[in-house]
Amino acid sequence: MTDEFGVTAWGREWTRLAQPTKIIRPNPALPRARVLARNDNVRDVVLLAGSVTASVSTSDTSDYRVTVTFPTWDARRSAAAHEVVDGVSDGDLPDTLHAALRMRGVSVAPLVDELTAVCGCTQRVRPCVHILATYFEVARRIDENPRSGLLLRGFDPRSMSGASQVTLDDIDPTTFYSQGKTVSAGHSVVHRAALDS
Ligand SMILES: [Zn+2]
Repeated sequence: MTDEFGVTAWGREWTRLAQPTKIIRPNPALPRARVLARNDNVRDVVLLAGSVTASVSTSDTSDYRVTVTFPTWDARRSAAAHEVVDGVSDGDLPDTLHAALRMRGVSVAPLVDELTAVCGCTQRVRPCVHILATYFEVARRIDENPRSGLLLRGFDPRSMSGASQVTLDDIDPTTFYSQGKTVSAGHSVVHRAALDS
């Protein structure tokens, strides 16, 4: 069956928090959690580096506050993400880049044993249906904008334009002057600045 949550590889990682592949027995709360997310009952969603908060409204008219906290990427994972994502223009990140990230041993979603999920309800089973619904809602938002999945891990992509501009630091003075007037028009501002100095 096709799944409305986790249609991208980026978002799918978050749906796996709700339905781990290694668990055989279906979780009876999952269908309800999907309905809650599908019907926009997961509200006031705030995605920050290292945390997700949401308010889940249910048919018993109660609103339950859900808070999920997890570690941001360490330096190694951030560096791997820069290798993969830097220079990619804004817009959708294709699943191929997600695969490249996984090849470097980096997962977008936190692991289930490194996150803490808290809900204000009194259900004894954890994760409760409200936490599960929050995972589906996060997956949907990441599907719509995969970069939000990176931001959750504290990743700050470098802009593409900054990397492609020629600056004075990129010009080797020993070859610059020998090039003389052959420097292309695009570098003319830098050329004049160098001559003035
Ligand atoms: Zn709950």
